[in-house]
Amino acid sequence: MFYEPVDVIPSVGEKTKEQLELLDITKVGDLLFHFPFRYDYFELKPINEINHDETATIQGQVVSEPNVSYFGRKKSRLICTLQVGVVAIKAVFFNQAFLKERIKKGEMITVTGKWDMHRLQITVNQFHSNSFNEEQDIQPVYHTKGNLSTKQLKKLITYALKSSLHEVDEMLPDKYLTDYKLPGRQHAVKDLHQPSSKTALKHAKRRFIFEELFIFQLKMQWIKEHNRQKTNGLPKQFDESLVQKFVQQLGFDLTNSQDRVLDEILTDLKQPYRMNRLLQGDVGSGKTVVAAIALYATYLSGQQGALMVPTEILAEQHEESLTELFGDLLTVELLTGSIKGKKRKERLERIQKGEVDIVVGTHALIQDDTIFNDLGLVIVDEQHRFGVQQRKTLRDKGLHPDVLFMTATPIPRTLSITTFGDMDVSIIDELPKGRQPIETYWVKENMMDRVRQFMVSEVYNGRQAYVICPLIEESDQLDIQNAVDIFEELQDDLPNDINVGLMHGRLNAQEKEDVMRRFADNEINILVSTTVVEVGVNVPNATLMVIYDAERFGLAQLHQLRGRVGRGSHQSYCILLADPKGDTGKERMRVMTETNDGFTLSEHDLQIRGPGDFFGKKQSGLPEFKVADLVEDYRALEVARRDAVHVMKHQLLWNNPEYERLKSMIESDPKIQERIFD
Ligand code: ADP
Ligand code: MG
Repeated sequence: MFYEPVDVIPSVGEKTKEQLELLDITKVGDLLFHFPFRYDYFELKPINEINHDETATIQGQVVSEPNVSYFGRKKSRLICTLQVGVVAIKAVFFNQAFLKERIKKGEMITVTGKWDMHRLQITVNQFHSNSFNEEQDIQPVYHTKGNLSTKQLKKLITYALKSSLHEVDEMLPDKYLTDYKLPGRQHAVKDLHQPSSKTALKHAKRRFIFEELFIFQLKMQWIKEHNRQKTNGLPKQFDESLVQKFVQQLGFDLTNSQDRVLDEILTDLKQPYRMNRLLQGDVGSGKTVVAAIALYATYLSGQQGALMVPTEILAEQHEESLTELFGDLLTVELLTGSIKGKKRKERLERIQKGEVDIVVGTHALIQDDTIFNDLGLVIVDEQHRFGVQQRKTLRDKGLHPDVLFMTATPIPRTLSITTFGDMDVSIIDELPKGRQPIETYWVKENMMDRVRQFMVSEVYNGRQAYVICPLIEESDQLDIQNAVDIFEELQDDLPNDINVGLMHGRLNAQEKEDVMRRFADNEINILVSTTVVEVGVNVPNATLMVIYDAERFGLAQLHQLRGRVGRGSHQSYCILLADPKGDTGKERMRVMTETNDGFTLSEHDLQIRGPGDFFGKKQSGLPEFKVADLVEDYRALEVARRDAVHVMKHQLLWNNPEYERLKSMIESDPKIQERIFD
């Protein structure tokens, strides 16, 4: 009956059918895969160890005949006395008069309920049969929706187990079951719903954790392989000694990490497939330099390169630093929204003719009239700021160009191999030598006077400061109001020769650029802002970052904000104004003061906030697993990934009939279609 609609079950009518649909259950078989989200266990506890009002399970001998009394309309109370060790206690059951038949004087019974220490009384909510067994009495707990009760749901699942369990197909080839000692699929489904023991439940979970993660990783590898084969790029040919020469004249040695990722990227460029790679590295770890070298190699191979960034100010900064890096070697041009009219037309012409080697720009790069002569490498900085469609449009501007995404948000490995599992990932995990760590302090808001004094002294030393205002997620408007208030307050409180500027999301692009430029030129000494300055802005003279209500930010975001300072040769500081109530808030502030390492912080963030909140709800792109948990099960994830890579490498989905089921399951997933190129 696996594939039959749920209403073939006699007790399921139109109403129940609708309720089940809310849970995505339409076929009888779906019931089998609606797994419990939690299990309650019953551990026997000696009476003297149970706290008042605690719910606990106890065992005792019935020493009085159960007595039932009725009250109100149809309400009942059953009372009996239990001898538990040396203590006699009362067990009270409400509205379970039927148990009278099952509770016999002289027998041992086991009950779970709420303990009243003063009255020596337990209010029972669960009566266990006489054959209670700690190892076996496990209560699955299900999600339900609408009016569907857990009890009904359990009955339906029991029905499905009886009628359809034998139709559940094994997905995994024997090899995995043997190697990892996993139970078969039918066994595991049964044990997830009706565990025969704690051990059996553990193995059933283990099996589905592996299955889910393995299938997921296979999909990722499948997409990766598909993109590689179907969209063959052109191998780039360039003289590596020239690249080495360029690297040598940079004026510093690349860090080991930079060396490694550069090697990965250059290898990709030389291959006849398209690169699809994510470059992760903390703020200031030297991603841009690596990107520049890749652009240079592309230029040597006779093709153009494009670097797309989210804001005009960033585009200008990158254009300046690339121009400086390359000197007369090649031509870099800027293309942004504010380049208009004749100037724009000219630039577009030169790009189309191939007279420009590298174009740095904003969204302007992906407009229809931007046509490249021969685009060979596309680099997208702060990739999460762009939508999938925008990235794709840029990619489509060349004939199968190589693509490199860059992000300064360190992403914990578990999440990165999940979210970006279809890409290759390169990580720069060290900073260039000699960087001074930013000193971070956590203070309460009542210390604002001293913080203001510190601002003044930094400004009088010639430095600059950012002041980040509280973030109020529910309302943009309040955010801005806050920023305006703090801006006015500082203007009033600080000496008149200190210029305070204001930046927020409601300013138009021109106004924003204007404020940023004045800050970059040190006309503005202190910039009050909402989080809009989070991304890549580079003002090396800024040495102080003050963050209001810091407990409202995630660690990754605080780290990004902190990364706006410490970019020059001066010692920099970050001050977190926060008065967190809970322990986790305090813990987060403490972690911030203790480490400058983005990856350490991101691991903490993941532990504290869980995978769903890590990227923020909107752009998470994280798959939903029924049994697996990305934080808890990271080891299984690594194993599943390694196995999936192996399967793809040896083409087992195509060569080995044991993999047939997995193959059709993967191919029929509509989500896969969204992620493949072309
Ligand atoms: P990111 O883009 O990762 O934030 P950048 O590439 O902009 O980092 O590098 C930050 C600064 O560090 C730049 O001024 C750059 O010239 C410098 N830099 C990069 N790599 C090194 C290195 N290996 N040694 C010393 N300085 C470096
Ligand atoms: Mg950068």
